Amino acid sequence: MDNRNSIAARKYEVYKRAATKKSRYIIGLLIGLIFIVVGMIISNEIVIFGGILVAAISLLNLVACRYAEKQLSIIEQEGALPAPRSEAKPSPPVKTKVCIHCGKLIAASSRFCEECGKKQQNA
Ligand SMILES: [Zn+2]
Repeated sequence: MDNRNSIAARKYEVYKRAATKKSRYIIGLLIGLIFIVVGMIISNEIVIFGGILVAAISLLNLVACRYAEKQLSIIEQEGALPAPRSEAKPSPPVKTKVCIHCGKLIAASSRFCEECGKKQQNA
């Protein structure tokens, strides 16, 4: 895994973690709104202010979640999604040779070039 891939993997993890907290922020927003309504009913500015504060913070976090979800979908669409760590095993090395006609790298076992189709001399 090269450096660019590991950065993408780390970004993906961060976005994924952020996106999973979305329900928490929705609850926070609802609690804030309830506080605002209750504060209005009992005409208590401190409760209203607290409700606005909680609702505003939750709303900001929700926007951040939306952003994270968008980034996740972009990463998934681009196919740059890094393979899960458990499945990340190195593929076995494939022996290759160079086509004697066109110079294309082909499997060492192939008798004909995959690119130009010409027969390879027996190695
Ligand atoms: Zn060839």
